Amino acid sequence: MTKTGLVWFRNDLRIHDQISLVKAAKENSFVMAVYCFDPRHFEKDCFGFIKTEKYRAQFLIETISTLQQELDELNIPLFVHIDLPEKIVAEYVKIHNITSVYLQKEWTSEEVKVSNTVKQRIADTVNWIETYDQFLFHPEDIPMTIDKIPQVFTVFRKKCEKYASIRKLETISKMPEKNRVTHLTKVPTLQDLGLPSLQQDTRTAFPFKGGEKSGLQRLQDYAWNTQKLSYYKKTRNGLVGTDYSSKFSAWLANGSLSPRMIYHEVKKYESEIIKNQSTYWMIFELIWRDFFKYISLKHGSNIFKLEGILHQTYDWNTDETIIQQWIDGKTAQPFVNANMLELKHTGWMSNRGRQNVASYFAKTLQLDWRIGAAYFESLLIDYDVHSNYGNWLYVSGVGNDPRNRTFNVQLQAKRYDVNNKFQNLWLQTSLF
Ligand code: FAD
Repeated sequence: MTKTGLVWFRNDLRIHDQISLVKAAKENSFVMAVYCFDPRHFEKDCFGFIKTEKYRAQFLIETISTLQQELDELNIPLFVHIDLPEKIVAEYVKIHNITSVYLQKEWTSEEVKVSNTVKQRIADTVNWIETYDQFLFHPEDIPMTIDKIPQVFTVFRKKCEKYASIRKLETISKMPEKNRVTHLTKVPTLQDLGLPSLQQDTRTAFPFKGGEKSGLQRLQDYAWNTQKLSYYKKTRNGLVGTDYSSKFSAWLANGSLSPRMIYHEVKKYESEIIKNQSTYWMIFELIWRDFFKYISLKHGSNIFKLEGILHQTYDWNTDETIIQQWIDGKTAQPFVNANMLELKHTGWMSNRGRQNVASYFAKTLQLDWRIGAAYFESLLIDYDVHSNYGNWLYVSGVGNDPRNRTFNVQLQAKRYDVNNKFQNLWLQTSLF
């Protein structure tokens, strides 16, 4: 009997080390794929921000175009729609007599609601195969159950480093050409998604281009071609330029780069070029990424609540004028302003910048942190639900920071922007 598998792509937009694809190719004689630009992702949220602004939308468009070409070469057609997955996936299953649906397992409320509805709309006889594929350490391999994930990162990291190992990379084999069909759907433009066109700001920290090929190229450049990886720990708190940090986050966020791929590449680099504190620190940061995913797995929708995972009540402010000043880079703090302008004009901000502007928002101005997080969600090119909400909780005193610190923004500026290079770049009014 001919078996047809459908891979429903969401935040796993790659062909390398992609478990759903590997399984689908192994278990079926024909594989097809679908991606939906979900219209709800381009609407306004409850705070009035468009959920996905032009920066991430453009990156996503480029990612899907690349994926479609790559899948074509594997004889897997990728059908692309601007529509609800609940409708499209269910239709494909019915029309194409799909026997199994493969997808990455998600657990955050909005994603689960959608996948549950899709599942309800398809026949019980169709196999539903969901797999965790976004982690560095697979949930089955960590030395603790989800309810025992520690509150403190260091405890989590040390246990994982000691007792867990990272899985090897999975490779997909090409499907037979005779099963090839042509996809007649087109990847949308920003305009199709109701968004304005995008012109890259010349001051950008990185000229991001979406798609697995660009992600893998960045990995190649950052490690092998420039060997900046050897200096990562010394430069990672930088603010200006392409190479102070890896910029992997944008590709990691939509799954066009696998964290395991980065890990194995770093290990190879360590054996062939150099093994030092910097190469270790890259993995260390990827473990932070995993930690926030596990925190969200453990605490569910509490990560979106004002009291956070600590159930801590503070007297939060929601003054619209003060929030708008923060967004527009018009606060009393030039360092905050420079960072906020960078975000507004490029969809990017360094880690050092994010920590400062978030601390200033939630701790100094005591504004409802969820509004700051929602603004980041709208603008960031690398928005990732777990990293964004996990970090905002952390900085706002309702998450995993055991020390509950408030950043001294002026001191931070003196330390990390010694010659005002970054602030001058963004605050010189002649540039506007
Ligand atoms: P590098 O310094 O090169 O680090 C390598 C990788 O490690 C990153 O790509 C990222 O995957 C991971 N990493 C590094 N720092 C962190 C961290 N603090 N938390 C989780 N993972 C980390 N990161 C996102 O990917 N998406 C978000 O939506 C996001 N929102 C944030 C919001 C706030 C308030 C803060 C303080 C941090 C946020 N971060 C987020 C984490 C961090 O700022 C970015 O991952 C990092 O700046 C991305 O740049 P890079 O890839 O050059 O990082």
